[in-house]
Amino acid sequence: MLVERIWSGNFLRNFHYLIACPQTGEALAVDPLEWRMCLTAAERNGWEITQILNTHEHSDHTGGNAGLKGATEAKVLAHAGAAARIGGVDRGLAKGDVIRVGRTVELECLDTPGHTMAHICLLSRTEEPALFCGDTLFNAGAGNCYNGGRPEALYDTFVNQLARLPASTRVYPGHEYLARNLEFTLDREPGNQDAETLLGTARHHDPAAATVTSIAQEKLINSFFRLQNPRIIARLREAFPDLEELPDARTVFVKLRELRNRW
Ligand SMILES: [Zn+2]
Ligand SMILES: [Zn+2]
Repeated sequence: MLVERIWSGNFLRNFHYLIACPQTGEALAVDPLEWRMCLTAAERNGWEITQILNTHEHSDHTGGNAGLKGATEAKVLAHAGAAARIGGVDRGLAKGDVIRVGRTVELECLDTPGHTMAHICLLSRTEEPALFCGDTLFNAGAGNCYNGGRPEALYDTFVNQLARLPASTRVYPGHEYLARNLEFTLDREPGNQDAETLLGTARHHDPAAATVTSIAQEKLINSFFRLQNPRIIARLREAFPDLEELPDARTVFVKLRELRNRW
């Protein structure tokens, strides 16, 4: 499996991905908003884009479908529950479906509600897995839930699906928010050494060359995976004095998400 991450350079800070079969050169484009950049990257590599995957229905992920489909005749794939809102979807996806790219690439569809209620993450079936997670999981952060989602559902997705992925899984999100998210981590958990170290480079990095994190690393730097951490809970009780002394993990997640909304 070949992966090319494409930095949009737009104000929404989108990342796009091309996932290609090394044998046939067929490629799948993930959320190709700036579709001309995706087309240029495919041509440079000698790849042919045959499929487009939308992780969810928001226009900053689907807005390039028509242009790219017009240029390539690629098929559009999306969560079956989002297909009507997206329009022009050729294949509706459900949990457990497998997307094949060329002869060698297999991508499993995870049904990951929370940011919206019809959101797909792709997990590659490779020795070192890769997760294409749209707006569900960001590097050091979690997607918002105020445009069609629910934080309780996002909690379930984090705990029951993402946290159980192999530690080495590489994380490929839909946007580049690393420095801002690390600042939130450090606001919630002052002294988190892993977050401090990474922030030192993330503040000045070229987004096109940003760090690709792993699930193991996310568990160190991402507050939304650190729901039992005593310092996070203590800081949360300062913000929400009515919170009980040992709040359950779901409550911690929902309150963190609430704070992040206005942070
Ligand atoms: Zn979104
Ligand atoms: Zn987005």
